[in-house]
Amino acid sequence: MPEQTIIRVAVNVPLHRLFDYLPSTGPDARDLVPGVRVRVPFGHGERIGVVIGVVSGAAQAPDRLKRVTQILDPEPLLSSADLALLAWAAGYYQHPIGEVVATALPLRLRQGRAPSTVGSPGWRVTATGRAQTRASLTRAPRQAQLLELLQAHPDGIGRSALREHCGDCRSALQGLQRRGWIEACELESVAPAVTGAATTAPPLDPEQGQALQGIGDSLGAFSAILLEGVTGSGKTEVYLGAVQRALASGRQVLVLVPEIGLTPQPVARVPRRLDVPLALLHSGLSDAERELAWQQARRGVARVVIGTRSAVFTPLPELGLVIVDEEHDISLKQQDGFRYSARDMAVVRAQRSACPVVLGSATPSLESLRNALEGRYLHLQLTRRAGGATTPRMDLLDIRSVPLQAGVSPALLRMTGEELAAGNQVLLFLNRRGYAPVLTCYDCGWVAQCRRCDARMTLHQNSRRLWCHHCGSQRPLDRRCPECGATELHPQGQGTERLEEMLRQQFPEVGLVRIDRDTTRRKGSMERLLGEIRGGEHRLLIGTQMLAKGHHFPDVTLVGMLDVDQGLFGADFRAAERMAQMITQVAGRSGRAGKPGRVLIQTRHPDHPLMQILLRQGYGAFARESLGERRAAGLPPYSHQALLRAESNAADEPGEFLRRAAGLARRHATEEVEFWGPVPAPMERRAGRYRAHLL
Ligand code: ADP
Ligand code: ZN
Ligand code: ZN
Repeated sequence: MPEQTIIRVAVNVPLHRLFDYLPSTGPDARDLVPGVRVRVPFGHGERIGVVIGVVSGAAQAPDRLKRVTQILDPEPLLSSADLALLAWAAGYYQHPIGEVVATALPLRLRQGRAPSTVGSPGWRVTATGRAQTRASLTRAPRQAQLLELLQAHPDGIGRSALREHCGDCRSALQGLQRRGWIEACELESVAPAVTGAATTAPPLDPEQGQALQGIGDSLGAFSAILLEGVTGSGKTEVYLGAVQRALASGRQVLVLVPEIGLTPQPVARVPRRLDVPLALLHSGLSDAERELAWQQARRGVARVVIGTRSAVFTPLPELGLVIVDEEHDISLKQQDGFRYSARDMAVVRAQRSACPVVLGSATPSLESLRNALEGRYLHLQLTRRAGGATTPRMDLLDIRSVPLQAGVSPALLRMTGEELAAGNQVLLFLNRRGYAPVLTCYDCGWVAQCRRCDARMTLHQNSRRLWCHHCGSQRPLDRRCPECGATELHPQGQGTERLEEMLRQQFPEVGLVRIDRDTTRRKGSMERLLGEIRGGEHRLLIGTQMLAKGHHFPDVTLVGMLDVDQGLFGADFRAAERMAQMITQVAGRSGRAGKPGRVLIQTRHPDHPLMQILLRQGYGAFARESLGERRAAGLPPYSHQALLRAESNAADEPGEFLRRAAGLARRHATEEVEFWGPVPAPMERRAGRYRAHLL
């Protein structure tokens, strides 16, 4: 057989293999190297793929191999280290390599477009604009603020950086443009971080100093570090110090943050403190902005990359430190398509890059905590709030046989009134959006059901619609009962809309804001609302978990949690862990030095042992107790579980398929593997499909 050069290509198709091609003979023909994108014939059409290897050997049937049609990149986009990481992930997560490699590329590159060379769009001051002072804009404070910011950055600021900093400021920008004081521009290179109201580092508390020392000493080699610091302990300052040290040694830094709606974490205050080119990668960017940030990271221009979970695959040739903030947060897990844990990938990545990874949280996952307690991870702890602030006091409110108003007990309502009268802010937490989770007919017992799921429709009063929170389907509100024709239908249970309605009646004079997915759907609205809260415009804050993440509201003196009991009895073995994390995170939003916070948790199970430990001894004790229970029950992290899911339009197919899978698996499995199921999924029908699983 003749010797042949064979190109192995990862093609973006759901197949667990690479595809072989012969080199291109076109006008652009040249030697190929791994990491370059190519266009290849596939089936009846063409696909984009990434070269994984070039081998020479005797092809089995060289005449049956097709040729690469086009070479898309002059240089590799992914290094051999990047490709090795992706190959590892494909193997570990059992996901087709072509799709995994595609995940690592920005959309435009995945589509086969030429790598962008243009600068990203931005704004800069004109010569006349430079000469203006704030005084010429006394009646347009927003324009004045923007002008000052742009004057401080004569090279211009990117649009997304401005959005990050000021929220939606298009009309103010247009105003300045009409005056001829600013102009649209293309940024020459990566914009240095916006340095607006630059803050300097406060002197670190002793514990912060020790933690920073611990991380600093670890630079230069792989180690995994758990930074367990109570809410408000100043983890961000420790991250910042560590980032600065890694930068000083000439390395790049990757910071992963959880997703909050459309905006990234308040760790975005990091940019204001670092005087280096920095790339933000999050879902609020346009495709072009995203590609630019990615390219700057890959070329080593951007020294710090801050991004949500998929940023873990960003090429960083000089990576020297990885930080995962809120490492327990479930948004770090990709839940469909290529499923992966960005936290776990971050650890693997750090190991392969021979650098430390810092996992930070006030409420670490039991997995990470176990690794720290057993000595596999370095365990750094911050046990006190930074700057002398006190930890909020937590109490349970027994609501058994107490009449509730929109879910609020009389005691909580009274205390809310007292805090508001004293001029303080109050946060009420209810993790359910909409008006009410159930709409029912008292005459015949009819309940509004989703037609595609085994689930009830949530009533959204403002939009007068019924909405399924599982599949997203919507329909107009029924005027009368479809079963018996009764003219009155009744909402049952509480959602944030209903809570808002009740509180507006109770406290008509007080500024109230509701933060959930419905009120923050539009780009920039979350920033605007948070800004209004910080500015003191609202004193009554209602929110779902969106309000619970990351943001700190120092003027909040009372936090009320309305409905957290379901976590005590959830079907998922992680339900209690999630509940404890949520309670602790919400509680941690409040209070500062002069104004200690108070937290009231309404419950129907005040004696539940887990609640008791959490309240009396805090999350750390709760987590250690729960680990003991997991060990006794043989649950993760003391065992490994694999869940096989199947779904189909036909009701009996998923179970049938999984029974065959179980039969096959039993023949190959060793004795210690246990099989549970197959059983129908907790919600068997969802979005019109029947689902079952095998554990
Ligand atoms: P965490 O992320 O640990 O919950 P943050 O990093 O958000 O805490 O810090 C909480 C607050 O404490 C912030 O307002 C921060 O500016 C402040 N802070 C952090 N470190 C110090 C310090 N050493 N001295 C004074 N204030 C500090
Ligand atoms: Zn009826
Ligand atoms: Zn549905």
